[in-house]
Amino acid sequence: MEKMTVRDLDVQHKKVLVRVDFNVPIKDGVISEDNRIVAALPTIQYLLDNKARVILFSHLGKVNHKDPEKTESDKAKNNMAPVAVRLGELVDAPVKFVDVTRGEKLEKAIAQMQDGEVVVMQNTRYEAGESKNDPELSKYWASLADLFVSDAFGTSHRAHASTVGVAELLPSGLGFLVEKEVKALASAVYEPRRPFVAIVGGAKVSDKIAVVENLLTIADKVLIGGGMAYTFFKALGYEVGQSLLEEDRVELAKEFLAKAQDKLVLPIDNVIADRFAADAHSKVVRNSEIPHDYMALDIGPATIELFKKHLQGAKTVVWNGPMGVFELEPFAVGTLEVCRAISSLEDANTVIGGGDSAAAAIQLGFKDKFTHISTGGGASLQFMEGKQLPGIEVIANKE
Ligand code: ADP
Ligand code: MG
Repeated sequence: MEKMTVRDLDVQHKKVLVRVDFNVPIKDGVISEDNRIVAALPTIQYLLDNKARVILFSHLGKVNHKDPEKTESDKAKNNMAPVAVRLGELVDAPVKFVDVTRGEKLEKAIAQMQDGEVVVMQNTRYEAGESKNDPELSKYWASLADLFVSDAFGTSHRAHASTVGVAELLPSGLGFLVEKEVKALASAVYEPRRPFVAIVGGAKVSDKIAVVENLLTIADKVLIGGGMAYTFFKALGYEVGQSLLEEDRVELAKEFLAKAQDKLVLPIDNVIADRFAADAHSKVVRNSEIPHDYMALDIGPATIELFKKHLQGAKTVVWNGPMGVFELEPFAVGTLEVCRAISSLEDANTVIGGGDSAAAAIQLGFKDKFTHISTGGGASLQFMEGKQLPGIEVIANKE
């Protein structure tokens, strides 16, 4: 079902409230990475070009609302002001920052807006009601505008006042960023060209149960790597030494293996180390040979070859979770080679979801080598679990 987008709204002379994701890293008032601000520009520019009045709001970091002392220091730390300054440098329009999330000052600034101008509101999480999707807060924010645009994919899995509450009260559409994410993920997960190969790794089975479960029902093969593989090893009766192991998930791993033996592909060798460190003593061993004082930190060379073989000819690849501890160079090879294999596929739809997986692919130099690298960690995971994202679900379908 296609959702309404910003293109379907008549935005001229209208006050348009846009939920963006301006949750950028800030240290001592300095933004170290402005990717997310840049990513919001197409929607903002479209609205300005079409003579709208653009009111932007976003969360930034976390604000503790239980301990009053923490509330104040969190607010000081997560002030949206530097973001508005940066936006002003990037966009060719007047940008006004209002340092509150409600009240006369904000209402006045909005009342004085002209077409083609931008107001940036203070951090939505200054409001305790934001994360609770508080109806009064949603109603207040909705009262400030005529239309709502949802362009914060990374928070679309959270039902907050600024993502869901407001969208329920105003005519709404998706922004370009969210539209792109939804199209890319949906084409892989809901309309995959086959063969469809899924690769799941990362730290824990418990984080990925629903992802594995869903991908097993829709993919032709599910390749398992990373730390979660060792709970599967245990389920098969191997000793895993000091490797990541979730004892309480061994039974579940057994169930997966019993249900989907023909689909699940596990590593056949491993890079093991005597410590969790880049300069640890390491070697390659088969699954049955992990000594009790060693830990497996990457898939081995035979596994890389096996995974490459399964990837051959794939038309859809969905990848979530690194194959090893890619943050330490000696254990990044598995992730690097899987990146390389996926990105060299011809005529395939290749999609990465998951915060660390996206970071790994970018860090290893594969930024432009996939069809789509999702910007939303938790949101893309939820998508791969086959679940609806409340912030997208709430937007009306096209007639
Ligand atoms: P994503 O954010 O992409 O969903 P996860 O958060 O599940 O991925 O997992 C990423 C983390 O998993 C990385 O920090 C990586 O170091 C860790 N990891 C991968 N393989 C192993 C392993 N064999 N042992 C311990 N940690 C691992
Ligand atoms: Mg992660």
